[in-house]
Amino acid sequence: MGRIVGGLTILLVAAMAPVVLVAGAIGAMASAPASGSSSALVTQLQAAGYENGRLPDGQLTVVSERLGYQCKVAKVGGADLAWMALAAAAERDGVAIEGGWCYRTYEAQAAAWNSRRCYIPGNCDGDPYPPTARPGTSMHGWGLAVDIWGASGLLGCSSPELLWLQLFAPRFGWVHPEWARCGQPGAEPWHWEYVGTDLVSGEVGDEE
Ligand SMILES: [Zn+2]
Repeated sequence: MGRIVGGLTILLVAAMAPVVLVAGAIGAMASAPASGSSSALVTQLQAAGYENGRLPDGQLTVVSERLGYQCKVAKVGGADLAWMALAAAAERDGVAIEGGWCYRTYEAQAAAWNSRRCYIPGNCDGDPYPPTARPGTSMHGWGLAVDIWGASGLLGCSSPELLWLQLFAPRFGWVHPEWARCGQPGAEPWHWEYVGTDLVSGEVGDEE
């Protein structure tokens, strides 16, 4: 980890200097279909015979542990390493972020779906509230989504950690899907997904 952190220190310093460039990169990220790259990773997993919510432990990395909960992120595309690099970069900037809910098994997603749709009044008999994905379709089931906790708990739209993530997470291949952004009817400021970037995979992959 030490070497990865070292390499990404340089990356982050480079990222912080040209603020306009960073903003430009975020703009590009925002306009690019986030599902493009993540669906490529999903395709990769499916081609290898894996199913949503049924990834074996060998395809996952425990990136952190909180109150006994193990946050697992997929290894595909370097998602796990990118997450750890992102968390380390945040820590160096004095920003505390942690994976509060990460990989979800099919059964856990089904439970979340059921409780969420009943949690919203009038939803129990109708369509589920869109942000809670139907079991078998969530990016959590591929180990490519993390619900992020900050210093004050699950991130909200005014959490300072959210601003930091908006600025820097895309450089690590982690993006905020459009539907989850603040201002959307089903906003989930805490829900971030891995889409990968060549920049990140190069930086992380070159480390030993
Ligand atoms: Zn989520």
